[in-house]
Amino acid sequence: MSSIPCPERLLLGPGPSNLSTEVREALASPMIGHLDPAFLALLDEVQAMLRTLFGSEEAWTLPLSATGSAGMETCLINLTEPGERVLIGQCGVFGGRMREIVERLGAQPIVIEAPMGESVPTQAMLDAIERERPHVVAFVHAETSTGVAQPVESIAHAARSQGALVVLDCVTSLAGMPVRFDEWQIDAAYSGTQKCLSCPPGLSPLAIGPRALERMRARKRPVQSWYLDLSLIGGYLSSKRVYHHTAPVSAIFALYAGLKRVIGEGLEKRFERHVDAHRALVSALTPLGFQFPVNDQERLPMLNAVVPPYDDEAEVRRRLLLEHDIEVGGGLGSLAGRIWRIGLMGENACRESVEKLVRALESFT
Ligand SMILES: *Cc1c(COP(=O)(O)O)cnc(C)c1O
Repeated sequence: MSSIPCPERLLLGPGPSNLSTEVREALASPMIGHLDPAFLALLDEVQAMLRTLFGSEEAWTLPLSATGSAGMETCLINLTEPGERVLIGQCGVFGGRMREIVERLGAQPIVIEAPMGESVPTQAMLDAIERERPHVVAFVHAETSTGVAQPVESIAHAARSQGALVVLDCVTSLAGMPVRFDEWQIDAAYSGTQKCLSCPPGLSPLAIGPRALERMRARKRPVQSWYLDLSLIGGYLSSKRVYHHTAPVSAIFALYAGLKRVIGEGLEKRFERHVDAHRALVSALTPLGFQFPVNDQERLPMLNAVVPPYDDEAEVRRRLLLEHDIEVGGGLGSLAGRIWRIGLMGENACRESVEKLVRALESFT
């Protein structure tokens, strides 16, 4: 079918995950203009489905035309002005990226680090909110570099009661585990399309709540990035539909098809499917000598950090890819060479993926 030399792989890494047939077909739809009424109607539906997914009645939702990291940057730079204090909960690589963005914008990061392989202690965050009175509190819901789930609600409530805005990274969690924007009192959240949504990389779904919009309107100076300035993007992604940049039409078609699948399956069923696939992985890999270092209360179902039982882990991953067309992720940052990251995201969160991986691993011994 494809005219380019591209193998079919089973993608069990930290993203991208495999696409459904529906999403692949959506990508092959005819091109139309980004101001065509047919496209705008579809965009409205995408925005409505994103509200359902984020668990919000009133947030402004949009697919940002860039990847998850741009979603992170957008939320942080639109809600923070130079000199302000941003409290960051860091339990892996992605919290570190938040810190760099905050430094570059001339704001003051205050970082609370988690012990390796654990979530950021809630009490330490509550104490820091009390002590530092930050303008913004930012942290990662599902830390893809370590496979750790971060409890959100008490931190977000405490931040809110001190007048701080809450920014939550939902890149890996959205569509794979519950995200409750309104209930948890989040002000801005961002995700990515290539993880549990099983769409191609390239878009970052955002949810921006009313308090965040208010803070943006009250800014003293404009956001230093023209492209990521939400007040300008809002001209297109609101009823006015003024040109800002050419929306990536095909990517949004794919997101539309991906969201339809998520809503069609039902969120609760989808979350259970992720937990079920995770349990199947634990049962299948433990007898092979794999260890699951993250405490089982804090494990992410869609991203499994495991210690592989091999002297040369990179060689086993290479053979999985080249001989069996299965991709698993290596460790990131200080965990490179020490762990594997096995993603069971979206379309791939099923027993069949686990069975394929285990059969391939068993064939090596
Ligand atoms: C993947 C990921 C990102 C970055 O997303 P990109 O699409 O790679 O830019 C940010 N945060 C978390 C938690 C992620 O897993």
